[in-house]
Amino acid sequence: MVPDIFIPFRPEDRQDRPGYFFILSGPSGVGKNTLLSIVLQGMSGVYYMPSATTRSMRAGESQLNPYVFMSTNEFEQMIEHGQFLEWKKIHTNDYYGTHLPSIQFAIEKGFDIITDMDVLGCEDAVVAFSDHICTIFITPPSMDELSQRLHGRDSDVKSIQTRLDRVELEMKHQDQYDFVLVNDDLEESARRLRKIIEEVRSSKEFKGKRQMMR
Ligand code: ADP
Ligand code: 5GP
Repeated sequence: MVPDIFIPFRPEDRQDRPGYFFILSGPSGVGKNTLLSIVLQGMSGVYYMPSATTRSMRAGESQLNPYVFMSTNEFEQMIEHGQFLEWKKIHTNDYYGTHLPSIQFAIEKGFDIITDMDVLGCEDAVVAFSDHICTIFITPPSMDELSQRLHGRDSDVKSIQTRLDRVELEMKHQDQYDFVLVNDDLEESARRLRKIIEEVRSSKEFKGKRQMMR
């Protein structure tokens, strides 16, 4: 079971406003976690919030990097105990979910957090925490490049195909996001992502797309 608040927030990172909740979406394999690891290395005070999942670890992954890996039974117990802001079954039959108490704590206490979510989970999060959310959609430079990235990361053809099958659904939602960023050149894309996050963090109140449409 995931402990109540498992992110080691430091008091000096507390902001003089509610915390911002940054959400990155985009097709699997577009580079969300790669971008995040580069951006977070050079930025203090923004915490990566690992989602929970029941999918198996890939080579190079470990507990909390990038997920809290758990069994289906553990995940279902957390659902029963109302521990998720949202959860979805994505790809084959794997659960992915966002830990609600950590998000509530961070926003309330003034800590900025960032996570990765599919487009449907992001819709749920926006409904729950609208005034504190900044959404960023990452797109690939082309579908060929996305396919190459998926093949470069994984050798399981079936797993790659299930991810490619979801691309259309993910891409259809990009207009709902506050920012859309093409992940072409990695360093340049990381620089642009860092700039977006820094600009939003420096504002007392972020007026994203959703707030302006109200
Ligand atoms: P996601 O988190 O969106 O599922 P990953 O961060 O795991 O995607 O990236 C998928 C693969 O693409 C990884 O092998 C990564 O090294 C590669 N990758 C990510 N961004 C780029 C980029 N800008 N150019 C080339 N390869 C990239
Ligand atoms: P994978 O890492 O297995 O290739 O792909 C995971 C997919 O699930 C991505 O589309 C990612 O954005 C999404 N995802 C990761 N964490 C969460 C979460 O907590 N909730 C939801 N709804 N989607 C998530």
